[in-house]
Amino acid sequence: MRILVAGGAGYIGAHMVKCLAENGHTVTVFDNLSSGHPEAVRWGRLVVGDVLDRPALDAVLQADRYDAVMHFCARSLVGESMSQPLVYYRNNVLGTLTLLEAMQTAGVDRLVFSSSAAVFGQPLSERIDEDHPLAPINPYGASKWMCERMIEDAVKAFGLHAVALRYFNAAGAAPQGRIGESHQPETHLIPNVLRAVLEQGSAAPLQIFGDDYPTRDGTCVRDYVHVDDLAAAHLAALQLLQQEPGMHRFNLGNGAGFSVREVIAAAGRVCGRRVPHQVAPRRDGDPATLVAASDHAREVLGWKPRYTDIEAILETAWRWHRAPVY
Ligand code: NAD
Ligand code: UDP
Repeated sequence: MRILVAGGAGYIGAHMVKCLAENGHTVTVFDNLSSGHPEAVRWGRLVVGDVLDRPALDAVLQADRYDAVMHFCARSLVGESMSQPLVYYRNNVLGTLTLLEAMQTAGVDRLVFSSSAAVFGQPLSERIDEDHPLAPINPYGASKWMCERMIEDAVKAFGLHAVALRYFNAAGAAPQGRIGESHQPETHLIPNVLRAVLEQGSAAPLQIFGDDYPTRDGTCVRDYVHVDDLAAAHLAALQLLQQEPGMHRFNLGNGAGFSVREVIAAAGRVCGRRVPHQVAPRRDGDPATLVAASDHAREVLGWKPRYTDIEAILETAWRWHRAPVY
């Protein structure tokens, strides 16, 4: 198939491009490089452009015949979305709207969309399945919820077929391939933990954002899922769209939660070094716990994460962060 990967120069998108190419697909990446890296696009063609730019999208979508679009573009930082909500609604919601319009015009009728656990807000159950109410508590999550809603309406109205994949916390890096997580500034826990290990003595210790949450050790609990496992779920989603038209949603996680302190301890074992850390105030917009129930993805997509052990996930991240290429 010929696939347009919007946001394919970013962390998860680059792993997707690698996975698509390895499975025989032809890829064009469309990315404005706001948080992505041209060096990460090693298995496809890169078109630099913005999903808010309709003429640029039309040009790329009409120049070739695409079988599907995968849409990874977003601003995706919870804390930043609390202070800059309109930036989030513009980029994420308007960007997705513009992409949907351009797909309709070009007659591309299959979409895999990067959604997020942030659509659920405060969990009402220990593990979150697809029937959990959608009640985002930050503008980032609200923007993803609005995108899902627009996609669902487009599916009903004009024959789009779509899968929304709600990732929990993407983590790790491809064991081979010289790609990994690299954001500036970096806000995600695992890269920050590993940086605290690498830069101890010369940089600030890791900040633990809050240790007074209602969790087993007071720090936030998240479900870390390997980025290659996420890519595998997208591949399965593409296949599903060929067999089952309509709108599908899947929650993607390992089904096991780790607290910030547990991640720090696991990283200490993997790196064989102490992780310098200190407790800081809570970060705005963070729910205490987010853990996935991914039975639906297992049953319908046949998805089975290969990395179920937090230390195995951290190993792959550690290999990247010790010698990042970009
Ligand atoms: P990322 O920032 O590394 O990648 C996003 C990519 O999209 C970047 O290459 C960026 O340059 C590009 N982009 C952003 N806005 C754009 C625009 N208007 N036009 C063109 N390109 C644009 O982020 P990521 O961690 O790889 O996340 C990918 C997707 O997965 C996002 O939609 C994010 O919300 C979602 N997600 C990520 C996580 C996670 O843990 N990383 C969890 C849940 C959902
Ligand atoms: N976190 C932290 N220190 C950091 C980065 C993150 O304590 O330097 C916490 C954060 O408050 C959250 C968890 O680690 O509870 C995961 O945060 P991350 O930003 O990696 O992902 P999110 O859950 O926001 O998608």
